[in-house]
Amino acid sequence: MKTFFLPLFLIPLTIFAQRDWSTAEITSSEAGPGVYRLFVDNRVSVLVQTGDDGVLVVDAAYAQTGEKLKAAIEKLSDKPIRYLINTHLHGDHTGENAIIGQGAQIIAHPSVKEYLSKDQVRGETTIPAPPVYASPDITLEGKMTLDFNGESIEILHLPGGHTTGDLLVYFPEAKVIHVGDLLFAGYFPYVDVSNGGNPLVYIKNVAWILENYPDDITFIGGHGPAFSKNQMREHLSALNETIEIVKNAKATGKTAEQMKDSRILKQWESFGAFFITEDIWIDTLYPFL
Ligand SMILES: [Zn+2]
Repeated sequence: MKTFFLPLFLIPLTIFAQRDWSTAEITSSEAGPGVYRLFVDNRVSVLVQTGDDGVLVVDAAYAQTGEKLKAAIEKLSDKPIRYLINTHLHGDHTGENAIIGQGAQIIAHPSVKEYLSKDQVRGETTIPAPPVYASPDITLEGKMTLDFNGESIEILHLPGGHTTGDLLVYFPEAKVIHVGDLLFAGYFPYVDVSNGGNPLVYIKNVAWILENYPDDITFIGGHGPAFSKNQMREHLSALNETIEIVKNAKATGKTAEQMKDSRILKQWESFGAFFITEDIWIDTLYPFL
């Protein structure tokens, strides 16, 4: 029997804590005209929009890769960073706020501001709250439009999927959208129930995104490669299949442990290669089905 000792809320911090950051690399590719995807340490996607008005950044990855990310952004533009948008509160998306967001306006959901105002205690480890300038200057619930570099950038709050405060950032001219951790492209998603997430709302929100944005745009998730809309559709239907399987097994009286022992999600083994394994995905879904 496989047993997990890690409460789910501990995973993102513990899994990244013990590593050598000096080898972390940042790759850069154009996601659309004037919009670049920086892939930090082969793990986290940061979007950078450049133009005459300056630089806008969506998500600031780890605190430990801040200077490298700053250097990578400076290669794309010599203009100042005017805006930093956090798609949600997790440390692999807000960790560099103090470096990337210094001198910029930081935009996020109020839950990000609240999260960053407190020390985070994880068992024996305390991660101190970042300096106040790393906290959002502008908070939003609902929707806002930001006219910047000739784009009317749409920022939309889609609550309760990955966390309570998930934001989408859409560049209609460049045909690119950053959907934060509502896309772990090719992987089982992490759903942060302790911060207002819910796996069924997560799935509903992904379906909503597919219905409400055009077919010819590029989807950037917090983790994994960029996806076309068709790839997003296939990904969603795979997740829906896994949910049906766990739901049906639970209806026949199977426990989560029995489902893990018989590997009912074995077909999606490759989806477990990031950090939410088949077993953790079963544990995530089980109480909600
Ligand atoms: Zn996250």
